[in-house]
Amino acid sequence: MNSQKKFPRAFSFEFFPPKDDDGRAGLRDAINQLAPLKPKFFSVTFGAGGGIRAGTYETVKEIQARGLTAAPHITCTGTTRADVKQLLRSYRELGIGRIVALRGDRPKDAPAAGDFSHANELVAFIRAETGRHFHIEVAAYPEIHPEAPSAATDLENFARKVRAGADSAITQYFYNPDAYRRFVDDCEALGLDIPIVPGIMPITNYKQLARFSDGCGAEIPRWVRKRLEGYGDDLDALRAFGLDVTTALCEKLLAAGAPGLHFYTLNRAGAARALWERLGL
Ligand code: FAD
Repeated sequence: MNSQKKFPRAFSFEFFPPKDDDGRAGLRDAINQLAPLKPKFFSVTFGAGGGIRAGTYETVKEIQARGLTAAPHITCTGTTRADVKQLLRSYRELGIGRIVALRGDRPKDAPAAGDFSHANELVAFIRAETGRHFHIEVAAYPEIHPEAPSAATDLENFARKVRAGADSAITQYFYNPDAYRRFVDDCEALGLDIPIVPGIMPITNYKQLARFSDGCGAEIPRWVRKRLEGYGDDLDALRAFGLDVTTALCEKLLAAGAPGLHFYTLNRAGAARALWERLGL
């Protein structure tokens, strides 16, 4: 973990593009509550459908127009070289300096058309097209990407992204700090010298969390899962327990030398703000 300690700490929040007017109002409210915390950036996810993709641009534009720093995600899934060139041009015009480059989740019922198969190819393309203009973030998986045949292969694939020019990484969420420590140590042993910022998923809704976790391979420890199940409809108790669990996790990560935290907000400020306050950030 030692190599991470030299990087300045960076805190950031993630949003997704809202689908309708209610969603837009909710997001505006979340931005109003989180902006005073002065995070390094607000990242905005990029989905598979055309409408949702346009939503990323619109959301990023709104964040930048408020004098805040936005970091759009770009995925390989369904994206051509021409699409990426066009996006990079539009983002430069908006004053964007940071991109999160990903493969993207593959649509279940359609082939993942596009010019890039993996995120390392997208990173290399962005570097070739725009030189050092963008700070490029990539994804990392302390608990191993669910499609990877082994931890060693997944680590080697992570290294490809760093060697292609990634500047820093944000992890998939996890609740086991040892998985993060081991991943960072493995990266250090390979000479991968970039900040690896833990992604933190606040716990506010058990069913939703269980669904996400099954999909992305993030393990909810049994003792946490059992307790969350036990709260049933008592959301106040569930959230209080969730805040305890995530606060302890973040404290351990920061004490071990994590270079910041990236909060998955699901467009709601409450849980991320509560965590921020508990951590005394
Ligand atoms: P990759 O790095 O390409 O890895 C995917 C898999 O392929 C891994 O198993 C890896 O081991 C393997 N692999 C990688 N490179 C190679 C190679 N060159 N040859 C062979 N195998 C290889 N999804 C979205 O759709 N939109 C978003 O906005 C979004 N934002 C995210 C933000 C963060 C911080 C994280 C952690 C995830 C996000 N995701 C998003 C989900 C992400 O797209 C999925 O986890 C996806 O399955 C993998 O993306 P990746 O960029 O890590 O892919």
